[in-house]
Amino acid sequence: MLPIRGYATKGPTSILEPFKFERREPGPHDVLIEILYCGICHSDIHQALDEWGGAIFPMVPGHEIVGRVMRVGAQVKRFKVGDLAGVGCFVDSCRVCASCKAGLEQYCEGHIAWTYNGTEKDEKTPTYGGYSSQIVVDEHYTLKISPNLPLANVAPLLCAGITTYSPLRHFKVGPGQRVGVVGLGGLGHMAVKLASSMGAQVTVLSTSKTKEQDARRLGAHDFVLSKDSTSLEAHANRFDFILDAVSAPHDINAYLRLLRRDGVLALVGAPPKPLEVHAFSLVPKRRTLAGSNIGGIRETQEMLDYCAAKNITSDVEVIPIQQVEAAYDRTLKGDVRYRFVIDMKTL
Ligand code: NAP
Ligand code: ZN
Ligand code: ZN
Repeated sequence: MLPIRGYATKGPTSILEPFKFERREPGPHDVLIEILYCGICHSDIHQALDEWGGAIFPMVPGHEIVGRVMRVGAQVKRFKVGDLAGVGCFVDSCRVCASCKAGLEQYCEGHIAWTYNGTEKDEKTPTYGGYSSQIVVDEHYTLKISPNLPLANVAPLLCAGITTYSPLRHFKVGPGQRVGVVGLGGLGHMAVKLASSMGAQVTVLSTSKTKEQDARRLGAHDFVLSKDSTSLEAHANRFDFILDAVSAPHDINAYLRLLRRDGVLALVGAPPKPLEVHAFSLVPKRRTLAGSNIGGIRETQEMLDYCAAKNITSDVEVIPIQQVEAAYDRTLKGDVRYRFVIDMKTL
């Protein structure tokens, strides 16, 4: 077994603290990665606070991982020592169900090994995430990272990037379409960059007036302060597609009514409490309310390659790991521009 250093929380009311644990020695198909940067996703916070239920402690969060390959198993073909590598939200899956076979491992119908707060393929060994020195992952669940982009800014692509890219592709967002992005946080700011790079006309719907300038700099054509119901109503029946990336309970009906006939609102935000949907927000204009979960390995690689070609990365604030608790507090207050990323050298 390999000795690993990390940060873990022991329960929903504990704080993240230094934690020592072990990972398996790399097997024939595994790569051992020295973690250089790890993003802080709001899902880390939901899970560390056990807001979704069923959390496993001690928990080492972190699923926006980039680093350098230190060792490879004998059968590994796609990586060699010294290569950059990325790991996202899962590190294995059943590999035989229809979703896995379709390259949609995130919807695995068998056992999926989430990067943390889950169990390995054996369904017993707890998984520990990226707030740690090293990780061992099967090469098939490891992503290739371009050396041409700043690495700290690439880390958030492994969750925030793919979670917004995948529904934009699935719902065929393209040139000339009117796209709304609700919530300008880690996910939301990537959605703005990606949707505008695909040619869409993007409007940010935000509760924070102070984010208007940023929204435009990130590529939005328009900004609506969502707390102001008159400005919101002025956009009724307007959008082809809305991506809702809000982390907290909110009135989704206010956004559904902004969709045109046959428009789609895709939820990627995962508030811990149910959202109430009014029939009349959907029925009269045959609107669709959908959901979307991260992305599969093939599409994550496609997104990383797309971002490398288009020079798209996340806006980040790099922090030492000792400031992780302060970063959680600031994220909860909406005070993040637009993703905290931990510099793992500071561990
Ligand atoms: P984040 O950086 O904290 O951003 C969330 C944004 O939501 C905030 O910046 C804020 O934007 C808005 N917001 C926060 N509280 C609000 C409230 N009470 N009412 C209205 N708006 C509010 O979070 P994130 O990392 O982007 O994650 C967003 C959500 O997506 C989380 O629930 C996370 O768990 C989930 N998630 C889902 C997936 C998936 O696969 N589906 C993947 C990753 C994350 P404004 O200031 O602009 O209003
Ligand atoms: Zn995430
Ligand atoms: Zn499967």
